[in-house]
This record gives sequence, structure tokens and C-alpha cells, in this order.
Amino acid sequence: MELNGALSGHPSPGRARIPSRRRLLPLVAIGILALGFALHCGGEKQSTELDGIIFIVGDGMGLSMISQASLESAEPLALESMPIVGLQKTYSTSGSITDSAAAITAMLTGHKTRNKWIGVDESGQRRKTLFEIAQERNWSTAIISTSSVTHATPAGALVHSKDRHNDADIARQLSLNPPDILIGGGRDYFFQVRPLSADQTGTNNPDSDESPGPEGSEGYDATPSETRKTDVSTFLDFLSGSHTVQLSYQDFMSQDCDDLCVDGKPADRFIGLLAQDHLPPVDPNHKLNYKKDDANPNPRRELETLDASLSDWMRGLLDNPPPEPGNRKNYLKTASLRSLRTLLARQRPFLMLIEGSQIDWGGHANRADYAIRELVDLDETLEALLRETEGRNVLIVVTADHETGGHAIVDGRPGSLQKSEFITHKHTAEMVPVFARGPGAESFTGVYENTDIFHKLLAVMNATPAFSH
Ligand SMILES: [Zn+2]
Repeated sequence: MELNGALSGHPSPGRARIPSRRRLLPLVAIGILALGFALHCGGEKQSTELDGIIFIVGDGMGLSMISQASLESAEPLALESMPIVGLQKTYSTSGSITDSAAAITAMLTGHKTRNKWIGVDESGQRRKTLFEIAQERNWSTAIISTSSVTHATPAGALVHSKDRHNDADIARQLSLNPPDILIGGGRDYFFQVRPLSADQTGTNNPDSDESPGPEGSEGYDATPSETRKTDVSTFLDFLSGSHTVQLSYQDFMSQDCDDLCVDGKPADRFIGLLAQDHLPPVDPNHKLNYKKDDANPNPRRELETLDASLSDWMRGLLDNPPPEPGNRKNYLKTASLRSLRTLLARQRPFLMLIEGSQIDWGGHANRADYAIRELVDLDETLEALLRETEGRNVLIVVTADHETGGHAIVDGRPGSLQKSEFITHKHTAEMVPVFARGPGAESFTGVYENTDIFHKLLAVMNATPAFSH
């Protein structure tokens, strides 16, 4: 395990990465614990190090939808090969029915909260996420989604907000404290002008009276000078100082590399914002008319009215934006596999969030065909990740944040299309399954609160029995 980030470089913008002695001591203790564990179980694995954790969320992926996908498939789903299964209770402090924001907050901070809130507890207090803990320990971090990266679930990794719909503020927070890898849609939200002073960095943050997170105005002022560009004008410009930025879906998909790269050059830290807003569905026939919220102005359009102080790059992007993808094809599998290989090459533990965002949208629209196609896309991604991590110390956990639609199969035969019905266009309160494989997977059996996911993952991060049985 790599303990000293100062030696290995690549600090996030605005963050010092020198661990304190106080922080190192428990890590040393954990290392001894992990070693003891490995010796106790006797030689099954060579390494005592955790390679990383892949946390996969199928948004709105209830057990009945998984059942339909399984019944309609000629082969067992990859999900069915996961050795450990549990159930989590999804209710939020708003009631029995959670939304995605409260659910991801529960799973990544260990605190139930109100619907629409991200990264803050019920009292509005900011709570540290597993991704922030991973950053503090100098782990690599990655977020991949099929929606805008500002959508509730991907935002839940690093954002603190009482308004899940404020995409511009979420993009601002992600820009100030980006993960090492961020891939999804939502490009337009990163076109906003970067404020020049700390007191202009936004007012939507909840008060920070827990330990301060790495983002916010402090990190802003502490930006290393070498990552500054003289012509910085937007958050997109700002991110390009620390990451390789790719904005074209077509260019991303056509790269001829096994890992993340641009024009043949490996990209160690990577931002891929591959659609203006959400990526399209796998099947273009499933395209929904997304309602845009008028209260959430599009920063790109605002920027178009500004002539002064835009970099040539930004001006070129406004004049000639990359073409929008017509359908998504195997984007999620491609992005996830390439990211995994890049993360493994960084040779430090990693924490990765992958969201199949649109299973939920099929549920909301009561379109089982849409939901199932998106679920199968996520399952194909899982299958590829399971194969790629074979023999490695990678914990993979797959779950949902809630069920959507009250879906039920009402007729059909195994191996053919099922007839199914929905009872609502909204979420439901049923428990959702949790599947796990890898080091620490056995702790995910049983029935527990969604907040326990945080504690289970943290336990693996803290004291990793660095092998799977
Ligand atoms: Zn959701």
C-alpha cells in the first residue's frame, strides 16, 4: 500500500497530500492486521494488498427487474455469479420512499438524510464521504455514470448540497475537488465561468461544522501554481490543468487503447464529459424527452454571451461543440474497463463508483424494455469487470439505491420475453439486493440498513483481509 502521496505526485488541485504521522500510525496497524490475516488463512494468495473497491449502483434496479432480465436471458446474468448476497433497507428520513440523493448519501456517508440532499445529514451537517476518505489516504478515485456526472448518484461521491438539482453548483464542487477519473455526461455544466475570488465560489454549500472536506474556498486558494493557466476562464479550463480532458463521445469510443488514453498517450488522470447533459440510452428507441429545469440555467448558453477572456480552446468548443452521441453502445463497459486498467496501473488502492443511471428512468416511464436493456448493459459491464479482476484483490459490490415503478412479472416463460406491469411511476420502499465478491465480501450477507454499506466498505478500507476465499 502506498502511504506517502508526496512521493508519488498527482495531487488534486488545491490539496496538500502529505499525510500526518497521526494518520500513518493506524495505517501501519492495518497493514500488520492484513498481513496476519493472510498468514492465518495460509498461502492462498501471494499479495497482502487490496487492489481496490468497485461499487456499482443500478439506479432503480429492484429484484423483480433483475428477475425479468434473468428470465429473458439465455445465459445466467453476471450478477448470478456473485457469491455473496444481502438485502438493504432504503428508507430515508423523509419517509419510506427514498430518492437517489438520500440513498447515495446513506451508502457513502453512513447517514440517512432527507430526499434531495447530498453529502449532508438530516440536520444539514456536512458528512465526509468514502471518496473523501479515500482521497485523504491517497487512494485513486473514479466515478463513471451513464447520466450527467452531476446527477444525484455520481454527485454523491464527492459533493455536499441541499439541492440535487443544482447541476452548476455540483459541477463547481466536482471541479474544485475532482476524482482522478470522471466519465459521463454533463459537459455543459462545466462551461461556467470560474470565479476569481474565494467569496465568489457559491453559496449553496451547507455549513461545514464537521471536519472540513477537501473542496471549497480553501482548496481554491491553495491551487498549486503549476496547474494554473494564464487564460483560465471556466471550470473546464481549470480541470484541464490537472487532468486529460476528453469531450467527444466518438473520440473516446474510437481510442485504440486498453486503458484510458488520448491520441495513443496514456491518461493517468482523466475527465471525460461525453455529452452536453445525459448520455443517451443504449437503445436509441428508448430516448425520453428529458424535462429541463428552467430554474437551472445552462452555463454554456450564458457563456456564449461573453466574448472577453475566453481561451481559444473554450471559444473553439463553443463554436464547434463535439457531436452528441446518438446511442450509447457499450460505453459503460468500455469506460469502466479502461478506467480499471488505468487505476490498477497507478499501483495504489482505488475506490470506483459505477452507476447504471437509466434503469431508473425506464422504471419511471413504466418502460420495462428500457429498464431491462439498461440493466443488461450494467450486467455486461459487471461481467467484464469480474473477468478483468479475476485473481486480483478487488472487492466488487453491486446494489441499487431503491426500486422504481413497483415492477412485477405477471406472465411469461423462461427464455422468452416476460409480461410485466408497474404500479407507480415513482420509487417504492422495497428492500434491494446487494451482491458482493472479493476481499471482505462476506460482510455483505444478511439484512441491513443502507447506511451499513458505508461501514462495511469502510471496514474493508480500514483492515483489508487482502484476499478472497
Ligand atoms: Zn435512484
